[in-house]
Amino acid sequence: MRILVIEDEPKTAAYLKKGLEESGYAVDVANDGPQGLILAQEEEYDVIVLDVMLPGMDGWTVVKTLRSTRATPVLFLTARDDIDDRVRGLELGADDYLVKPFAFVELLARVRTLARRGPPRESELVKVGDLEMDVYRRRVKRGGTRIDLTPREFSLLQLLARRQGEVLSRTQIASYVWDMNFDSDTNVVEVAIRRLRTKIDDNFPIKLIHTVRGVGYVLELKDTA
Ligand code: CA
Repeated sequence: MRILVIEDEPKTAAYLKKGLEESGYAVDVANDGPQGLILAQEEEYDVIVLDVMLPGMDGWTVVKTLRSTRATPVLFLTARDDIDDRVRGLELGADDYLVKPFAFVELLARVRTLARRGPPRESELVKVGDLEMDVYRRRVKRGGTRIDLTPREFSLLQLLARRQGEVLSRTQIASYVWDMNFDSDTNVVEVAIRRLRTKIDDNFPIKLIHTVRGVGYVLELKDTA
C-alpha cells in the first residue's frame, strides 16, 4: 500500500511519514501543490493525504485537477473547522476530510478505510459506444483500435466521456482541463476539440463529439437515423 502525503509543513509531513511507515505503508512526501500533483498523476497511490493550504497550488486545485484523470482516494486536511471548506473539498472530489489538529490514530483509521474502499470501479474504464478509456493505463481505443492521445487530449476526452450526454461550456472545459479561466473569445478549447475529433471521430462513421451551437460541446452516442 502506497500513500502520498502532500503537506508543506515539515514537522507535520515528517510525523505523518513516520507514523504511516510504522503502520506498514510506503510513503512519499511532496512539499508543495505542483510537486504533489505531478506525483499523484504519474505514480500509483492507494490514498493521498492532502493539505488544503499549500504553496504553489492549493489543495482544492490539486484535487480538482487530479480528478480529471485519477480517482485515487483523497483525504483532505483542513486547518479550519469551516463547514464551507469541507463542503468545497468534497464537491471538488475529496473523499473524506480531517480537521487539524488531529490525532494520528484518527488519521490512520480514515486512511485505512479509504485504502480498503479503493477508487470507484467505474472510473477505471470509461465506455461510450465503441470508445473505451482505460484511465489508469491511460489508453484509449475505438472499435478495438488503439488511439494515441497527448495528456491534454486525454484529459479533455475523459472529461467529456465521464460526463457523457451533458453539454459542457468552453469555460467549464477550460477550467477543468487547463485549470484556468479565460475570456470566451479565445479559441484554445475549439482548437483542442478539433484535434481530438481528428483522432476520435474522423475515421469512424458514428461521431461522438458534438458541437452545441452557442453553448459548448457534448460527447454522446446520438441516434443519427
Ligand atoms: Ca499547509
